[in-house]
Amino acid sequence: MRADFVANASHELRTPLAAVTGFIDTLRGHAKDDEVARDQFLEIMGTQTARMSRLIEDLLSLTRIELNEHVPPHGRVLLENVVREAAAALEPLTRADRITIAITARSGLPAIIGDRDELAQLFQNLIHNAIKYGREGGHVWITLDRSADGEHVSVAVKDDGEGIPAIAVPRLTERFYRVDVKRSREKGGTGLGLAIVKHIVSRHGGRLAIDSKPGEGSTFTVILPVPTEENSQKSLAPAPVT
Ligand code: ADP
Repeated sequence: MRADFVANASHELRTPLAAVTGFIDTLRGHAKDDEVARDQFLEIMGTQTARMSRLIEDLLSLTRIELNEHVPPHGRVLLENVVREAAAALEPLTRADRITIAITARSGLPAIIGDRDELAQLFQNLIHNAIKYGREGGHVWITLDRSADGEHVSVAVKDDGEGIPAIAVPRLTERFYRVDVKRSREKGGTGLGLAIVKHIVSRHGGRLAIDSKPGEGSTFTVILPVPTEENSQKSLAPAPVT
């Protein structure tokens, strides 16, 4: 598995690197005095180096999360705050396709035990995907709720985009798995976002549920345990909550 991963990661990096190397040669050679070509090539080189940076960032995140996977998180986190911040950070990306984000949260949800930075990354990845694979003029609905027995909180990120074929759903959290590689690349994807989500959910003792209908949209639901002292709906202990 590790050898496969290294081979895949190298391949993903080699493609943009080859493009950049090729353009450097061209700019040194026959396009040396061609101003129009130079601007065009520099633009492409910028896109390719940005892609390499995103890949390296995601690879490093994945490694960091994996190293910590068996160390339980210990912060107290209010998911609504994390979700609202993640959505606000991604708001500029909704403009191109005029996508609207709506957040609904049940009132009085308890804090959970978690690593705030990892949870922020988790929701950013899910919301970003809902925007990337959403439809023009579409919606992203984010719903925070608590299970009837009070033992779990859930965050559902739903879009009305292209959806995912049933056969692909079980493979989505595999590293570098993409339903449509070309489309993912066009959208700036690395194929690592959901692998990162899976590891963060697992470190938090939670579960990821994926429900999708091609042509109608997808819902990614993260279900996380409520700490035992909160289970009987008692009020929050006065520990700092972020
Ligand atoms: P990527 O960087 O390619 O988006 P991810 O690991 O985040 O990588 O997702 C893997 C693949 O799952 C995507 O390439 C896409 O095919 C599919 N996918 C993820 N989220 C959605 C969604 N909300 N709607 C449709 N397809 C999705």
